[in-house]
Amino acid sequence: MKFNTKTIHGGQKPDPAYGAVMPPIYQTSTYAQSTPGGHKGFEYSRSHNPTRQALENAFASLENGDFGLAFGSGLAAIDAVMKLLKPGDEVISTNDLYGGTYRLFTKIFEGFGIKFHFIGMDNAANIEKYINANTKLIWVETPTNPMLNIIDIAAASKISKKHNVLLAVDNTFATPYLQQPLDFGADIVMHSATKYLGGHSDLVMGALIVKDQDLAKKLYFIQNASGAICGPQDAFLALRGIKTLHVRMQRHCENGKAVAEFLKSHPKVETVYWPGFDTHPNHTIAKQQMRDFGGMVSFVTKGNNYDQAIKFVENLKVFTLAESLGGVESLCGHPASMTHASIPKVEREKIGVVDSMIRLSVGIEDAEDLINDLQQALG
Ligand SMILES: *Cc1c(COP(=O)(O)O)cnc(C)c1O
Repeated sequence: MKFNTKTIHGGQKPDPAYGAVMPPIYQTSTYAQSTPGGHKGFEYSRSHNPTRQALENAFASLENGDFGLAFGSGLAAIDAVMKLLKPGDEVISTNDLYGGTYRLFTKIFEGFGIKFHFIGMDNAANIEKYINANTKLIWVETPTNPMLNIIDIAAASKISKKHNVLLAVDNTFATPYLQQPLDFGADIVMHSATKYLGGHSDLVMGALIVKDQDLAKKLYFIQNASGAICGPQDAFLALRGIKTLHVRMQRHCENGKAVAEFLKSHPKVETVYWPGFDTHPNHTIAKQQMRDFGGMVSFVTKGNNYDQAIKFVENLKVFTLAESLGGVESLCGHPASMTHASIPKVEREKIGVVDSMIRLSVGIEDAEDLINDLQQALG
């Protein structure tokens, strides 16, 4: 099955009860048993739910994996991955990372005795220097947030396999439409399905996808034992969203390109971060591992003035100032005061998240309206 067919049919079959084409929202906590243990595969909805199972099958199909797991949020999915580890284990993570992931790693799991190395992974060879006998996991996010750096997944995977360490990739920004990390040798793909997979800014959800059965069993055990599952209504919404992922992504990419090019030509703009420019430091890798360059664009204005950046986001009319990304509507954010506020200023500036940085999630509206809006707000 090709990707554009998988988004609609991957892992799906009509509901066995009445042939419903869309899986019904099985809004139930429990299932009748004819005799103790005599059930139809479902006992209790923390463990299994038919609507969630349909979604989990769709996740697996989209990422060319064999097992999908749905969680109540992206962070709940990451939390489940971290619970594979034990005190004394070490993680090598990209230093250009979603703020909430950094917070989870440093404020929760460091306290449980896990050691993190936050390093630049622009050059994946860097990773190997930090590997020792305690290293259990490499955490990659690509493209990164909000710098839109690209990490070479195949190169990271070579290192992880050589040292028998797990490689997890947060694929939220790219979506499986643009890149499928399992195909490049990753062991775990993670999504905040809140973003492009859901695609309509109407739910919060996380996903994990793997190929290895033992790993799937461990993660399923954690999902059930810790209980951070998503509800059936949200599972239904995510399934509905996924059916248009490929058409939405195509337009996100077209509009992202138009916006990036407009900003690059604007006299008040200092730098535009977008992996589609051939001047982007990892453009070659982006071209190798991604089908297109996505709808996320970040930029910095000349003078790097905090107050001007705030004024700019306040003046936008079509772009909505909001956290999050990946929905059909265009959003803008000011990482220094929003998504990255939980990262200390010195740390965020080290990776380039300066005061005037603006991050755009370019939606699927008419590109001309988006550009006109940016034009007037820059004015
Ligand atoms: C939003 C996001 C997360 C966290 O997901 P939630 O659904 O908000 O818990 C993790 N990684 C990236 C790249 C994100 O954008």
